[in-house]
Amino acid sequence: MPGWTNSNRRDRLPKDWQAIRHRVFRRDGGRCCIPLPDGRRCPNAATQVDHIIPGDDHSLDNLQSICDDHHRVKSSSEGARALNAKKAQNAKKFLRPERHPGLL
Ligand SMILES: [Zn+2]
Repeated sequence: MPGWTNSNRRDRLPKDWQAIRHRVFRRDGGRCCIPLPDGRRCPNAATQVDHIIPGDDHSLDNLQSICDDHHRVKSSSEGARALNAKKAQNAKKFLRPERHPGLL
């Protein structure tokens, strides 16, 4: 996804960004919002505020708290690719019907 590593993104953050960050952390209970492959929410403490849709939309609806790990994944396209591959793998695992060993 283009836009994660936009070099001038920092310059375009609003003046009250720190206040917005605090509001997002408080809303999300200080925890990372990224869902894990098994559907649970990431249990890590949030350290970053992430734009759900990259760009200039700094409204609370477009912001979520995320942990260091997920921030790193989202920041590097390599990591995102790896995560997508993992997701695809998990989806495949899900589709394969499990057979009871005794039935074979
Ligand atoms: Zn996380």
